[in-house]
Amino acid sequence: MPIQTACITDELIQTANAVLWPSRCLSCGEPASPGQPLCGACWEGLRDACSDYACPRCGAVVSEEAAKNSMCGFCINKKLYIDGFARSGRYESTLRNLVLMLKHSENAALIKLVRILAASAFQNRFASERIDCVCPVPLHWTRRWARGFNQAGVLAEGLKSIGIPSRTELTRKKQTKPQPVMQSYSKRMKNVRGAFAVKRFADVRRKSILLADDVRTSGATLNECARVLKEAGAERVYALTLTVPAGQI
Ligand SMILES: [Zn+2]
Ligand SMILES: [Zn+2]
Repeated sequence: MPIQTACITDELIQTANAVLWPSRCLSCGEPASPGQPLCGACWEGLRDACSDYACPRCGAVVSEEAAKNSMCGFCINKKLYIDGFARSGRYESTLRNLVLMLKHSENAALIKLVRILAASAFQNRFASERIDCVCPVPLHWTRRWARGFNQAGVLAEGLKSIGIPSRTELTRKKQTKPQPVMQSYSKRMKNVRGAFAVKRFADVRRKSILLADDVRTSGATLNECARVLKEAGAERVYALTLTVPAGQI
């Protein structure tokens, strides 16, 4: 059954209506209808960004036909340590706005909305998987100190509402250089190699762990995190992000 992500926003609208939101759209600042986190145009943008088919292994945007396969053209030739991928949608429109705002804001309503998106993506893809805990991709302490929080941790904490505990199993040993957009996947893997370490091997051994981050660009960072977790004895490693790159594989 191919994964079609469009349905998540319908479910989201139901949930979003049930909680209190500010009177202005979280994405564009224009007035929003009472009980709505977004204005009509931004809801449309979110729905569009979340309407596609995803590769179940790496989350890339693929055709409906390709989504029936276990992997896509992007992941088939790579050494992937990630066993499955959930994401809300593409890095564009309203979803891109929300992700960019999350990097610099601890706005409670924004956090509530992205947590609902993350929980929907999780339930859409992993409802039948055994997952022991969610682990945020760590920021280097210097960046966390400068920012005050880790947006991956914000998402991971949000999965508590659906019964998945959040545990910080990884630490970031070194600050990696910003990864140029056009850099090859192998160069990106090299750049992040050795950047992460498992805190306590005993805590991850034979566990099924979900990595959480706000965005997936090349996937090299998530793959490196999965590599060190598996080297430490994790049985399965999955990943969840809000976005993946917009282009179809
Ligand atoms: Zn708006
Ligand atoms: Zn793939």
